[in-house]
Amino acid sequence: MTTSPEDLGDGIGVIPIPIPFKGLDWVNAYVVAGDDGVVLIDCGVDGEEGYDALTHGLTALGHDLGAVHTLVVSHAHPDHVGLAPRLIDEHPAIRFVMHERIDRALPIYNHPEEWGPSFAEACRRHGAPRDFWEPFLASVDPPDWWRLLEPPHETVADGDRIRVDDERRLEVLYTPGHEIAHICLRDSATGILFSGDHVLPRITPYVGWEGPERDPDPLGNFIASLIRIRDGGFGTTLPAHGTLIERGAARAAQILLHHERRLGDALAEILEPTTAWDVTGEIFRPNLDVFNKRLALRETLSHLEYLRLDGKAEQTDRADILHYRSLSRDPHVHLP
Ligand SMILES: [Zn+2]
Repeated sequence: MTTSPEDLGDGIGVIPIPIPFKGLDWVNAYVVAGDDGVVLIDCGVDGEEGYDALTHGLTALGHDLGAVHTLVVSHAHPDHVGLAPRLIDEHPAIRFVMHERIDRALPIYNHPEEWGPSFAEACRRHGAPRDFWEPFLASVDPPDWWRLLEPPHETVADGDRIRVDDERRLEVLYTPGHEIAHICLRDSATGILFSGDHVLPRITPYVGWEGPERDPDPLGNFIASLIRIRDGGFGTTLPAHGTLIERGAARAAQILLHHERRLGDALAEILEPTTAWDVTGEIFRPNLDVFNKRLALRETLSHLEYLRLDGKAEQTDRADILHYRSLSRDPHVHLP
């Protein structure tokens, strides 16, 4: 994939920004240029390396940070929103925009000291062995690229239109699932969809259950949000990771199929009462490292909670450990 800034035509440019996460090496910031300045979509992780990549990228595309009138961030993950506090500190004219459900994400984002202990408790309740969850009890300092977030200057809702210039708008599609405040944006001038992490090439976006305070049904939301993209006839789609997707609607359909199969796999594992930890061990490949095992458990929980909320499974508490059991006679799951 390309790792240098590129002019994609029609006033749109992409700036790949390196990020310090395993597996995902780059995040794409996009610029949409209008008559009187630039909208920046996502901004990369906080830190010098990201900042340099962003500013050099803007220069390569013929702009600079002074030209940015609006920063719109697709969702509250640090590789997308991390640099926002620094950018708006340094350039007070930038209007920082996110979806209104950022109110649900911010209290968690801004309390990293609580993540470890609350995850340890969730692991314990869902059947993980003590040696897995005990290390999370000690609260650890967040990484140095983690910076706390102030609320955005302006929040938007589904259907709102973000101004690029007098002619051009970015229409907001609220697409929760990967994250509760996630939005995609449709460019009124070209019909291009900026899909954030909602529709990605090659990999299926992570959809993890992170507690009911943030989102009680992330997979249900994700599926509904994917159906919108599948049925919306979207073509050219610019994702936040990886390269251009030619047929966004078709890619959304593929991701839906993945989850339909995965839901069927999960249902088949809970014919007898089974913990989420044990289901994870059956439906994910073995020998995952701790980081990936953690993501796998959260993904499994988003599937099991979807089945439960859909009436296909029940959850029971046995000696303070939660178990799931299938209530469905049909072992397959059929998404709309
Ligand atoms: Zn993300």
